[in-house]
Amino acid sequence: MSVSTAAAPSVRAPLPVLGRDVTVPLVTGGEVAYAALDYAASTPALQRVWDDVAAYAPYYGSVHRGAGHLSRLSTDLFENARRTVAEFLDCRTGDGPGEARSGKGGGGRREGDQVVFTRSTTDSLNLLAAALPDGCEVFVFETEHHASLLPWRNARVTCLEAPRSPRQAVEDLERALADRDPYGSALVCVTGASNVTGELWPVRELAAAAHAHGARIVLDAAQLVPHHPVSVRDLDVDWVAFSGHKLYAPFGSGVLAGRADWLREAEPYLAGGGASRTVTRRADGGVDVEWHEGAARHEAGSPNVIGAHAVASACKALTEAGFDALAAREEELIRAVREGLADVPEVRFLSLFGDDAPRVGVLSFVVQGWNSSHFAAALSAEYGIGVRDGLFCAHPLVRTLLGGAPGARGECGVPGAAPGEESLDAVRVSFGAGT
Ligand code: PLP
Repeated sequence: MSVSTAAAPSVRAPLPVLGRDVTVPLVTGGEVAYAALDYAASTPALQRVWDDVAAYAPYYGSVHRGAGHLSRLSTDLFENARRTVAEFLDCRTGDGPGEARSGKGGGGRREGDQVVFTRSTTDSLNLLAAALPDGCEVFVFETEHHASLLPWRNARVTCLEAPRSPRQAVEDLERALADRDPYGSALVCVTGASNVTGELWPVRELAAAAHAHGARIVLDAAQLVPHHPVSVRDLDVDWVAFSGHKLYAPFGSGVLAGRADWLREAEPYLAGGGASRTVTRRADGGVDVEWHEGAARHEAGSPNVIGAHAVASACKALTEAGFDALAAREEELIRAVREGLADVPEVRFLSLFGDDAPRVGVLSFVVQGWNSSHFAAALSAEYGIGVRDGLFCAHPLVRTLLGGAPGARGECGVPGAAPGEESLDAVRVSFGAGT
C-alpha cells in the first residue's frame, strides 16, 4: 500500500499547545517528532492554559471555605471562571427577550442559565439524568457517544436509528416526539459533532423540533466546543455539556450549563458539604438538610478550582483567537488526509451524511484487510503518528457505519478483522490547535 504525502498545510491557528517537541523512537530506527492526531480523545493543553494555571498555583486555597486571603482569591477565581464559561457559551442571562420557557415546556418566570462545574461530559450528562423529572421521556439517536446514550437508563428511552441526512434527523425526531405523552416532560439528547465521523448535527433545527413538541434538549458539545463557537441562546438548547480535557485544559473538569429549574428541583447529585445550606440533627436522631438552590447544589465537596480556572482560560484563549483560523487549518488537514489516501482502494471513509458534509477535524476510516489496531500501531511504530482505533465508545454508530455487528472487546473495542477480512472497527484521525 502506498500513500502520497500531501503538502504541509499553511495556516496555523494562533494557539500554541504543549508537547510539540516530543520525539519518539521508530521501529525502523531513528526518532521523529511525535504527531498527535487524536484530539477527539483528548487535546494537548494550550500553552496559555498551562501558564495561567502555573501563575495561579502558588496562591490556591479552598473555595467557599475560608475568610483568608488565598481562600477568597480562589473563590473569586472559581466564580469568575463560571462567568467566563457562561460568556463563552453565550448563556441566557434571564433578562433578554424570548426567555420565558421554564418548568415543563412553557410559560413561567424568566430565569438565567446556570453553569455547574463537573468532572467531564459524562459526569455532566449523568448529573442531568439524575435531575430528570419523574416520568420524563428521553429521546436519543443511536449515533451518540455512550456518554450521551447510557445515562438515561432510569427513564423511558426512545433510541432512534441513525439518520442518513441532517434533514432526516429532524424529521425522525419530530415523528418520535409527536407520539409522546404531550402532558409529560421529555428530553432530547443530541451531539453537536460526531466523535466518529466529525459530522455536524443540525442542532438548531433539532432544538426547534424538541421545543415545538414541548420537550427540552441537551447538547453534547464535547466535540463541538473545541472547534466551533457555541451559543446556547442562538441554538436555543436547554443545556450544554462539555469536557475540559477536549478543550485544551487538563483532565477532571467539565461543564453542564443551562436551565436552572430541573437542577434546582432535583436532589443533589452528590450529597455533602458545599451543597447543603443548613444541616440539623432532629430530636428523633435523624438529620434534616436544606440544600442550596444554585450551582453549588450539585457541586458538593471541595471544588476543582484549578480545573475550572483552566477551562475558563481555554475559553478565553479560543474566544480571543477566534475559531476561523482553527477551522481553516482543520479543513486543510482533512483534505490532506483524504487526498493522501485517495489512491488507496482499501481505504473507506465513514460518514452518515456524505463525505462532503460539514464536519469538525475528525475523520474515521477502515482499511480493508487490515486490523485497525494493527494499522494504528504501525502508524505509531513506523511513523510516530498517534491515532485512535476501535469503536470510539459509539458502538451502535460504528456498527451501522460498517454494516456489521461488532462483538465486544473491553469497553470500547472489538477484535479487528484478520488480514483479508472485513474490518470490524475503524481508525480515527482528529486535529485541532497545534496540528
Ligand atoms: N461525548 C462525545 C461526543 C465524546 O466524544 C466524548 C468523549 O470522547 C464524550 C461525550 C465523553 O467525554 P468524557 O470522557 O470527557 O466524559
